[in-house]
Amino acid sequence: MVLIIGTGVGGAIIAMELAKSNIPVTIVEKGPFVDVKNSYKYYDEVDDYLDLSKTTCVGGSSVVAAGNGVRLLEEELKRYDVDISTELDEVEELIGVHQLDDSHFGEGTKTFMEAAKSIGLSVIKMPKFIREEDCVQCGKCAWGCPNNAKWTSQDFINIAIENGAKLISETEVTDILTENKTVKGVKIKSTNGSIKTIESDIVVLSAGAIDSAIILQRLGLKAGEKLFIDPFVTVGGVLKNISYSNEVTMNALIKGRNFVLAPHYSVILNQNLDDENIKKEDILSIMIKIPDDNHGKIVNGKVIKENTIKDIRFIAEGAATAGAILVEAGVDPNTITSTRLRGAHPGGTVPIGDMVDSNLKTEYDGLYVSDASVIPEAPGAPPIIAILALSKRLSKHLINKLSK
Ligand SMILES: Cc1cc2nc3c(=O)[nH]c(=O)nc-3n(C[C@H](O)[C@H](O)[C@H](O)COP(=O)(O)OP(=O)(O)OC[C@H]3O[C@@H](n4cnc5c(N)ncnc54)[C@H](O)[C@@H]3O)c2cc1C
Repeated sequence: MVLIIGTGVGGAIIAMELAKSNIPVTIVEKGPFVDVKNSYKYYDEVDDYLDLSKTTCVGGSSVVAAGNGVRLLEEELKRYDVDISTELDEVEELIGVHQLDDSHFGEGTKTFMEAAKSIGLSVIKMPKFIREEDCVQCGKCAWGCPNNAKWTSQDFINIAIENGAKLISETEVTDILTENKTVKGVKIKSTNGSIKTIESDIVVLSAGAIDSAIILQRLGLKAGEKLFIDPFVTVGGVLKNISYSNEVTMNALIKGRNFVLAPHYSVILNQNLDDENIKKEDILSIMIKIPDDNHGKIVNGKVIKENTIKDIRFIAEGAATAGAILVEAGVDPNTITSTRLRGAHPGGTVPIGDMVDSNLKTEYDGLYVSDASVIPEAPGAPPIIAILALSKRLSKHLINKLSK
């Protein structure tokens, strides 16, 4: 039996692929199986020190994802002897990545695209894994789509279960059990406090970049030392009645040298402006996201993250470009404000070439890691497609190994 820890982007596709190949699979998930439309209630708490978004529920952070399916890391991973080109094609097809129909572009996104073009920037429609026929264009993608109009890892977990996989939810893996450098199983703790062990000679750790590192640290491994988070801010101001906040979020993309830009609304902008005459419908705003230096770490279960001089330069370059677009679009320059710095793509804590080999195997026989933690460098762009491709590749390796 293969035991998979976590039902997010990294874990769910492996569970599905193995179950479809008649390999017995057990999946252990810390969070509950919730309706996608309620998933905003399952964001982990953040503190004033670091605003890092992730959710704990079946599907992991895919349930609140914006549906951006950007193909990346293809060339970078070849340097680590990992070729995911075929798997990128496969997952793009599997989850239906495409640019949305013109009917799903609102006034705010069109204004962003036209303003960017008119100041000489190259802008494209964002590749998405959203189904137009189900999308009601409410702007709530990151709350958990009220209409279930986008792919989430829950779709793959459901297929895995239909094919015989066993899901144990609301149960946390606390430790990985090993003997003579070989994995033997896991220790689990359910929400009612009961503690058990499950035996397995193949364990795939897909608990996300923070939790996978914490679990490996308990094994005595030096995980969690090269954390990146792809930091971002959202900068915007007043353009009366633009009504951008109700549109498909992040539906266009500008790839800068050191940042990416996409139209994006945050309620924090209205809070900053603190003027009841300014409604959310009066804001046009842009997300600036950067590939940060991987200088974060996880110490005693806490994330420690500093921004380097380069990180701040990249954010400033992106914010300046966003400001130029906003002014060209007609936003009142006196109203432009920014959110605090946030992050939603933690990764890098169990990097390929350092803590796992090109087959994502750790130094323990039978113990693999497949989630954002294995990505060796910050992509500074949406990583779901790359994580899915890495996991698809690992599932092929395991199917091959187990069918011998
Ligand atoms: C608001 C938001 C919007 C985003 N939008 C996009 C987007 O549009 N496109 C994109 O490419 N990326 C997006 N991302 C990033 C993307 O969702 C993450 O990079 C991705 O989910 C990471 O996959 P993962 O497998 O590493 O972790 P996750 O998907 O988070 O999965 C980890 C799973 O492990 C479970 N778990 C944790 N600890 C344990 C334990 N001890 N035992 C058992 N289970 C455990 C968690 O509950 C979770 O289900 C977004 C993220 C956020 C927060």
